Amino acid sequence: MLGLMAERPLLISSILTHAARFHGDTEIVSRSVEGPIHRYTYRDAERRARRLAKALIRLGVAPGDRVATLAWSTHRHFELYYAIAGIGAVCHTINPRLFDDQIVYIVNHAADRLLFVDTTFLPLVARLAPRLPSDCRIVPLGPCEAPPAIGLPVLPVYEALLAAEDEDFAWPEFDERTAAALCYTSGTTGHPKGALYSHRSTVLHAYAISLPDAIAISARDVVCPVVPLFHVCGWGVPFAAPMNGAKLVLPGPRLDGESLYQLFEAEEVTYALGVPTIWLGFEAYLDASGARCSSLRRLLSGGSAVPPSMVAAFARRGIELRQGWGMTEMSPLGTAAALKRKHAALGADALLAIQAKQGRPVFGVEMKIVDDEGRTLPDDGKSMGELLVRGPWIISAYFADEAASAAAIEPDGWFHTGDMATIDGDGYMQITDRRKDVIKSGGEWISSIDLENAAVAHQDVAEAAVIAVPDPRWGERPLLIVTARDGRQPERAALIEHLATQFPKWMLPDDVVVVDELPHTATGKVMKTRLRELYGRR
Ligand code: AMP
Repeated sequence: MLGLMAERPLLISSILTHAARFHGDTEIVSRSVEGPIHRYTYRDAERRARRLAKALIRLGVAPGDRVATLAWSTHRHFELYYAIAGIGAVCHTINPRLFDDQIVYIVNHAADRLLFVDTTFLPLVARLAPRLPSDCRIVPLGPCEAPPAIGLPVLPVYEALLAAEDEDFAWPEFDERTAAALCYTSGTTGHPKGALYSHRSTVLHAYAISLPDAIAISARDVVCPVVPLFHVCGWGVPFAAPMNGAKLVLPGPRLDGESLYQLFEAEEVTYALGVPTIWLGFEAYLDASGARCSSLRRLLSGGSAVPPSMVAAFARRGIELRQGWGMTEMSPLGTAAALKRKHAALGADALLAIQAKQGRPVFGVEMKIVDDEGRTLPDDGKSMGELLVRGPWIISAYFADEAASAAAIEPDGWFHTGDMATIDGDGYMQITDRRKDVIKSGGEWISSIDLENAAVAHQDVAEAAVIAVPDPRWGERPLLIVTARDGRQPERAALIEHLATQFPKWMLPDDVVVVDELPHTATGKVMKTRLRELYGRR
C-alpha cells in the first residue's frame, strides 16, 4: 500500500520564494566587484530573480540549456543561481582559476551559449574567445562604459537586462529531477568532468547540510560562504541560508585575512565556510594584528585536510572550527567531524584527534571502504581502503562522459572517491591520502596528511606538503616541503626532531625543502603533481 502524502516537487525556486515570504526582510550583503557594499533582502532578491528569469527567456534560453557564469560571490551571482535553475535551465558555474585549456574545454563540452561575466574576467574571455563557440554571447555583470572588444557578441549589461523587464512572472513547476546546476571538477589528469545536479538533489543537500551536526545554519545566524560560488555551488550555502532564513554575506573577490575580518565584524558574521588555506591566512592575520572576532563563533573547513593545530588555534579564540569532507561529485557534503555526547569527558588532545578526522556521514550518504579486490573492510579505525559513497546528492554519472562514468561508478551506484580512508567504530571517517598520493615505504603505508598536519603545528611552518620520492631500497620515501611563517626560518633538523616525537623513525621524511610558496589548484588544494615534477626525482 502506498502512502497518501502529496508529492510536491522539490524545486530550487521554492527555496527563494519561501525566504522572500517568511524571511522577507533578512539581508543579503555583498562586497561588490566594484568595491562598495551592496545590501538588500531576500524579498528584493526574489523580485530581481523574477526579472532575470524573464530576461533569460527573452534571450531565448530554453529548459535544459546551459547558461554559464564566470563570477565572484555577489548578489548578482546569487540571482543567477535561482533565475537560471528556476526556468528549468542549467546554471554552469565556471571556476576562473582553472587553466585556459580547461575553461575552453568545459565551455565547449557544456555547450554554453550565454555567459554572465564579472568585469574582472572579461580579459580572460577576450583571451579565450578565439577558442570558444563563436555564437557564445556575453553579458557583463558589472557596469561597463562601452562594450568591450572581446571577439564575441556582447549583450547589454546585467542591470540593463533587468531594467527592461517587470516582475510579473510565476516560477514554473516541473519534474524535480530536472537538471539545475553543472560544476566541473578538474582532476590533475585528463579533462575536467561535469557533475550535473538536479533540483531534487540540491534541495535534499540543502536540508542535509542544515542538520545540527553538519552546517546547522539558523535564522539567528549570519553566514558567509568564503568558498566561492563557482566552487560546488558555494558548498550549498546559497540554498541552505535562504531555506533557513539566515542573513547571507557574500565576500566578492577579496578573500585575504584582513578583508575577511573587516567584513565579518561589520556584518556580524557568526558562521563562515572555506578551505584550510583561507583559515590559515585568516588566523595569521588575527595573530599578527591582535584583532579579535566579536561575532564569529563557528567555521567549517573542507576541501583539504584540516590540521589539528588549526582547530586548536581557533578554539583558543572561542571559535569552533569543524572539519567537513566532500567532493564536487557529492554536491559537496559527505561528512562532518562533530563530536558525540560520549566525547564530553575526553581531554583536549583526545578531542582534537577526533576533530582531525574528516567526520561522520550526514544521513543520506552511504559510505564504505574497500580493498583492491573490492572487498568491504571493517569499520575498525585501522583498515585502510578506497572510500566509496552513494546517495541522493551523489552523481550517478558524469555529464556526457561515458568513459569517466564507467571508470568511477559501479553498476549498483557506488562512486569511487579516489580517497584512501579508515572508518572507526563510531562512524568517523579519516582520509589518509588521495589514492595517487599515498606513500608506500618498505611495504608499509605512510600517510602524507598525518605528516603534513604535524608539520604545520611547528611554529616556523605556514603550509606543508609531503610527497613520495622513489627510493631504490624502500620503493618510496617521504619528502617534506614547507613554506615559512612570516619572520621565521624552518630548519630541517628542527622539523625532523619535531616529527620524531609523533612518528616512528621509518615514517620520518628523509629531507625537508623550504620554498617561498606551494602551488595550489583552482580549488585551493596543494598541487602534488606539480611538486612531484619539481622535487619527486631527487
Ligand atoms: P573537490 O571535488 O575539488 O571538492 O575535491 C574533492 C577532494 O578533496 C576529495 O576527494 C578529497 O581528496 C579532498 N578533500 C575534501 N575535503 C577534505 C578534507 N576535509 N580532508 C582531506 N581531503 C579533503
